[in-house]
Amino acid sequence: MNVHRNVQLSELTTIRTGGKVNYFVEVTSIDELKESIRLSRRLMLPLKFLGGGSNIIFPDAYLDMLVVKISMKGISFLENKSQVKAMAGENWDNFVKLCVNHGLQGIECLSGIPGSVGATPIQNVGAYGQEVSDTIKFVNCLDVISLNEISIDKTECGFGYRTSRFKTKDKNRFIITSVVFQLYEQHEPELTYKDIKNAITEIDDYSSLSRLEKLKTVRNKVIKIRRTKSMVINQNDPDTSSCGSFFTNPVLTKQDFENFIGVCDGLNLVPPFYKLNGKFKVPAAWLIEKSGFGKGYSENDVGISARHSLALVNRGGGYNALINLAEKIKSKVKEKFGIKLCEEPVIVRQA
Ligand SMILES: Cc1cc2nc3c(=O)[nH]c(=O)nc-3n(C[C@H](O)[C@H](O)[C@H](O)COP(=O)(O)OP(=O)(O)OC[C@H]3O[C@@H](n4cnc5c(N)ncnc54)[C@H](O)[C@@H]3O)c2cc1C
Repeated sequence: MNVHRNVQLSELTTIRTGGKVNYFVEVTSIDELKESIRLSRRLMLPLKFLGGGSNIIFPDAYLDMLVVKISMKGISFLENKSQVKAMAGENWDNFVKLCVNHGLQGIECLSGIPGSVGATPIQNVGAYGQEVSDTIKFVNCLDVISLNEISIDKTECGFGYRTSRFKTKDKNRFIITSVVFQLYEQHEPELTYKDIKNAITEIDDYSSLSRLEKLKTVRNKVIKIRRTKSMVINQNDPDTSSCGSFFTNPVLTKQDFENFIGVCDGLNLVPPFYKLNGKFKVPAAWLIEKSGFGKGYSENDVGISARHSLALVNRGGGYNALINLAEKIKSKVKEKFGIKLCEEPVIVRQA
């Protein structure tokens, strides 16, 4: 395990923030992962784990900590061919592509999401009608405190909309080393999301395609749609200098929703919403736009993507400007609609 000093984190994150970190290691095995934890104890430095850097915002100042990049690789098809184990450091989209090419259904709508396999359970990544928790069987972890390896069944992961126990009560406790997925050899691709359904109905001969061709077609359509929203990382597209959605969609209780509707009536606005397990999900993008922050909004060299009103983009202004803009948006939305927005990415605060 090579220990590096003064590594520039902005080069390892999609939103391109992050100053130099005192210590940095890249681990390629569980033994190295354990060694890195022991190293942080010897150095008495805080530890931070990094996958693909697509959902984390580091301060631009010097960081006196140890950052560990999770790079364990390997994908294996288990006894039952539709069960697949992927090591945490595998690139998520490469994994989706491999599964689709093997005719395995269940994650095709999650094509194009950047980052690593190991980070997907943390916020239960989701897009276009699928969530990763739909196909996770269990998550293998290393307990940072005891250094024991444990397997956590899907039912024990506390999965919810953009959340899990790894993001809440057990935040920083477990390092995900691999994930086992249960995919489907017979199922047709998922076409529940309107944009995908519409794109597919435009294809004349879709129904005559083989199941494998259908899966590949859906994957390609998802990526195509994501590109139009700058949701596929592209060095030539400055709007992809982001963490994807910066805020989660607020989920309101019946009472809070009724209050919100009352506010909207007073403003002559009719909000979009979706029912979710007896609660009401309101699109954060709508709240942000109606609070005066439209697509392409810009201040202090940060702003909102020209193609996606939920994506905050770093145009060179860096961490402080981004956090200030996020706070400004949150307070405007709260003031106008009485709703508190929550950030989706992990924001590392300066010690
Ligand atoms: C352009 C763009 C589009 C996106 N679209 C979507 C989308 O459609 N849907 C969606 O849900 N998300 C989306 N995201 C967010 C992001 O890609 C996902 O959350 C992704 O799973 C993060 O993976 P990562 O490896 O980059 O995590 P990182 O950013 O490296 O880490 C995120 C957090 O997870 C922790 N972590 C990372 N790996 C591990 C591990 N193995 N064990 C324990 N903790 C770990 C880190 O410490 C950090 O706290 C998008 C981001 C971008 C930039």
